[in-house]
Amino acid sequence: MEQTSVALGGNPNSGKTTFFNALTGARQHVGNYPGVTVEKKEGFLSHNDINIHLVDLPGTYSLTAYSQDEIVARDYLTDTKPQAIINIVDAANLERNLYFTVQLLELGIPVCISLNMIDAAKKRGISIDDKKLSSLIGAPVIPTIARTGKGKQEVLEEVLKLTRDSQGNGKFEISYGDDLDQAMIKIEKIISDHQFLADAYPTRWIGLKYLENDSQVITKGNNFNSVISDQLSAIADKVTKHLKTTLNTYPEALIADYRYGFINAILKQDVISRVHDENKLQLSDKIDKVVTNRLFGPLIMIAVIYGLYQFTFTYSETPVGWVEGFFEWLNGFASTYLSDGLLKSLLISGIVDGVGGVLGFVPLIMFMFFGISLIEDSGYLARVAYMLDKVFSTFGLHGNSVMAYIVSGGIAGGCAVPGVMASRTLKSPREKLATILTVPFMNCGAKLPVMALLVGAFFGKNEAMMMLIITLIAWGGALLTAKLLRMTIISGPSTPFVMELPPYRLPTMKGLFIHTWERTWQYVKKAGTVILGISIVLWALMTFPGLSDSTLEQFETERQNLKSGAAIVTINEIEAAALDDSIQLSQAAQSLQKQLTIVDFKAAEAALKNSIAGKIGTAMEPVSKFAGFDWRTNIALVGGFAAKEIVVSTLGTAYSLGAVDPEDTSTLGEKLQSAPGWSPLVALSLILFTIFYAPCFVTVVAISKETGTWKWGAFSMAFNTTLAFTISFLVYQIGSFFGLLAG
Ligand code: GDP
Ligand code: MG
Repeated sequence: MEQTSVALGGNPNSGKTTFFNALTGARQHVGNYPGVTVEKKEGFLSHNDINIHLVDLPGTYSLTAYSQDEIVARDYLTDTKPQAIINIVDAANLERNLYFTVQLLELGIPVCISLNMIDAAKKRGISIDDKKLSSLIGAPVIPTIARTGKGKQEVLEEVLKLTRDSQGNGKFEISYGDDLDQAMIKIEKIISDHQFLADAYPTRWIGLKYLENDSQVITKGNNFNSVISDQLSAIADKVTKHLKTTLNTYPEALIADYRYGFINAILKQDVISRVHDENKLQLSDKIDKVVTNRLFGPLIMIAVIYGLYQFTFTYSETPVGWVEGFFEWLNGFASTYLSDGLLKSLLISGIVDGVGGVLGFVPLIMFMFFGISLIEDSGYLARVAYMLDKVFSTFGLHGNSVMAYIVSGGIAGGCAVPGVMASRTLKSPREKLATILTVPFMNCGAKLPVMALLVGAFFGKNEAMMMLIITLIAWGGALLTAKLLRMTIISGPSTPFVMELPPYRLPTMKGLFIHTWERTWQYVKKAGTVILGISIVLWALMTFPGLSDSTLEQFETERQNLKSGAAIVTINEIEAAALDDSIQLSQAAQSLQKQLTIVDFKAAEAALKNSIAGKIGTAMEPVSKFAGFDWRTNIALVGGFAAKEIVVSTLGTAYSLGAVDPEDTSTLGEKLQSAPGWSPLVALSLILFTIFYAPCFVTVVAISKETGTWKWGAFSMAFNTTLAFTISFLVYQIGSFFGLLAG
């Protein structure tokens, strides 16, 4: 006969021993676990011609390695590895009991939940929707009464089904918040790359134990491979210190918080109904009654996001002015003290006007990140995700997708790369793919300077409102695209969702500052390295090969012709004025000066247009003009594929190379306002294009890696750019036709 081993586990007094007796009758044996005085009860039974070896584990609340009972229970599960666990859960104390269940699920051994003492629960006025609980937690749930043996046959059926099905309960992963999740991604990679302790435990579980600083697992890890073990401990130490300074907590406590949050979120979905409400609501729950209310919740959410933008634009205006002032000064300084030539052009047009444009928004980014940290650290962000879950499932996405959207910059200032990786928490491959393909539409930190530039220059009076509209458009577009994809190339059913709701916390000032600083520093670092490098390359592409000698001569002849038509005194006047600022030009000299400047400008523009990048931009113009983009904007958009900040730095360089007036230190925003071919309508078209067009190169790589094929990376580039062009085309054409936003 076939043989299988099953363990009984659960909290003390949940009815394990009673259930054990009901299952095995007299066929049992009492002994001790090896080396300890903890009692071990073993028994045998058979069901459907299968022999079952059943072990009653010591009752524990947790699977940490603190008490002897816990160690015995855990060692039995990891070393002897029963094929399944019957988890006895006291129906009247679901929250506490499910805490143990969650840990069993994380351990990866197939779990069948025996929802015990339903008779006693009923007497206390509690009834539980076992089907709903089962679908939300991802394990079979059978109501039982151990005293009478009710439900035991069904439990055995499910257990045997689980042992036959090599899938077990399927994937089970809880998110532990951004800090720990990021650390886990690194830890899990190291563990699976080196098959670290792989014989004994599941990858994610080992990682969690390192984060929890579990001495037993760490000792085993040191014996297995001390180098890898030290690497894991180092990552755990780093995040531990970080949590201490930012949230004044430590990983084990945070992990417990999120586990309880996960359980509470399940229980909140009408799993438990009580005849009389005996528990007084906790403060967090009271706040949630209002904040996640069907009517008030979304209104509060919009108000919070609008408030964030308002706060950012209002308070960052002055410091942004200072930084811009600094770059204007630097520009003027370099113009005065450097002699004309390539170096000067590189420094002024390539670096100061290019990268400076990106760095100019650092204060704005800082205020934005401060606001986001406040929303996140307080626990409100989790509520946003919770509320959006219902909306998301309507569009064929999953509640966990909300977090991926937010990580990608759903509210502002994230990055699609970790967003794509966050989709790993999705079990259904279809929902995962739909999430991966739509997160790049979010307003990531790299798009922020583009939005800030265009909104600031063309929608100056209503910056916060415009930002809110941009956010809503990005979300709307992402959700509609997801729906479209889920109805066509990746159609299939949706899976249920449980959102972890950690308790509200009062954020600490120190924590907020550290989070703000970390994110701002990343932005600055990227601008100073990647963006700087690409800007220099683009400057070169926009500078070389320059004009041919014959064209240069033509412009020179034009200048000579102007000069020869003028009086000698006028020319002398201009030459003198170039050396001495205090000289006032006469009417005639002013007009000649202006004409000469126009020639210079035409020469500079011809040089830019003749450059490699200029030729590419010009070649695209016959198509792009239908969306309102000229060849300069095209260069910026092509450059933006490398990184979205490049849109700003390239426009900066393009309008700097075109400008020849050494006195012109106006900001890029001011230049765009007065440049021909620009209007609020063009800016809007460009904003929309930037939201939707091909994700940046790094994101495309992440998409390809995460989906396992270049096909999806290529798809996102082609699909997004087509979508973006269609939208910009329609907006620009309709806007032009009706003369809207003409400026
Ligand atoms: P263990 O500590 O998990 O082994 O729990 P026990 O099996 O010793 O049970 C604890 C108490 O709960 C005992 O008094 C049992 O009679 C009682 N009990 C167990 N299962 C049930 C049940 O389904 N309904 C009711 N009403 N009582 C139960
Ligand atoms: Mg017992």
